[in-house]
Amino acid sequence: MSPDKGGTPVSFEEALRLILENATEGTQITRLPVAEVDGYVLAEDVHSPLNMPAFNKSAMDGFAFRHRDHTDGDSFQITTTVAAGDAPGGNIEAGECVRIMTGAPVPDDADTVIPVEDTSAMGGPADGPSAEGGEEVRFHSVPPRGANIAPLGQDVREGDVVLKAGHLLRAQEICVLAAMGRAEIPVYLGPTVAFAGTGEELVEPGGTLAPGQIYNSNAYNLWSQILHAKGRPHYLGILPDQVPQLREKISEGLSYDMLVLSGGVSMGRFDYIPQVFAELGVELYFQKLLVQPGRPTVFGRRDNTLVFGLPGNPISTLYAFDQYVAPAVRFFRRHPRPQATRLTGELTETITKKAGRLNLVPCNAEWSEGHYILAPLKTSGSADIFSIAGANALALIPAGVEEVSKGKMVSFRRLYE
Ligand code: AMP
Ligand code: MG
Repeated sequence: MSPDKGGTPVSFEEALRLILENATEGTQITRLPVAEVDGYVLAEDVHSPLNMPAFNKSAMDGFAFRHRDHTDGDSFQITTTVAAGDAPGGNIEAGECVRIMTGAPVPDDADTVIPVEDTSAMGGPADGPSAEGGEEVRFHSVPPRGANIAPLGQDVREGDVVLKAGHLLRAQEICVLAAMGRAEIPVYLGPTVAFAGTGEELVEPGGTLAPGQIYNSNAYNLWSQILHAKGRPHYLGILPDQVPQLREKISEGLSYDMLVLSGGVSMGRFDYIPQVFAELGVELYFQKLLVQPGRPTVFGRRDNTLVFGLPGNPISTLYAFDQYVAPAVRFFRRHPRPQATRLTGELTETITKKAGRLNLVPCNAEWSEGHYILAPLKTSGSADIFSIAGANALALIPAGVEEVSKGKMVSFRRLYE
């Protein structure tokens, strides 16, 4: 018996819950170049192979010296210049200092760095390129002992865990990985996603349309969204509205981690998809949603394969992938926050709707004076892809209301997180 109780429509929240409850986490790990791991999830703990800093490091451009030697207003002999990249070592005698650059190793017996701006040159610019040995520099307002030196191992000790498995990798984590000298990073692979457009009317872009035919746009919006969510797409092509062919291709699709079809799920004579899913042993969890657009959205599972039948109107397919499939893809590859972030914004226009369904309204969200302003876009229906080409957000207008007035705050989600 299918968990879908006779096709009762479920709410938006219930749909998300059912999907994430049935979603499985992938276990396959791959190693990617550190330059390509943005947005992936780390699959192993990373231990530091080194101390950071690896030597006592100057935090300023200035002069390194022995603090005990100084009295205010003293002048010091500059013995040499140490740049970032020079080998650590070297020593300093009483009354001597070295010119030192940010990131350079501080000589062994120096213990303090005075910034160049707290000094003045005596006989030539103290920070000039020609100033080498033999020159003198005067220190003003000498800092306390140890100032402006980052000591060896201050940030990280060799062997410390610097990132745990499960971390989402963004610029700041990638910076850590590169600083650890890691060129290849183990990350969780996304799911394999078989997908297709269905319908006798479809022709691939590049082909010639006969009367009554249209180009297959949905397969390409699915393709781009699968890649964007870091799933691994497998295109099944255009499936005709004929049960034997659907059966064959859907069977093939069921060997992937996910199967996503567009079209063929509503009340039309040739909408066979839910029937074929059921025949092939897919347990259906819902076949209708209390959501507009996207009411005839189908979700099911066979073994560990998640199965989605999305409504064929291009806007419905687009939103449905973003709302329901993308979170499952992110969940599979262990994204710590698979659901899209919700924000709130102020409507610039009154929205009226039928009560009983949540409405997804395409908007432009723009930050202005401390909050988001949400400008709804006019569309003539779920086939009107042209009207939403610039949209960056979907406002979620709750099921229970018939109107939300201009100026009210409503929640929204960014498209394609
Ligand atoms: P369906 O859900 O199959 O009844 O399709 C609903 C509407 O979406 C119809 O007007 C279809 O022609 C259109 N449609 C279905 N699949 C696609 C597709 N892959 N690309 C563009 N439009 C489509
Ligand atoms: Mg169709």
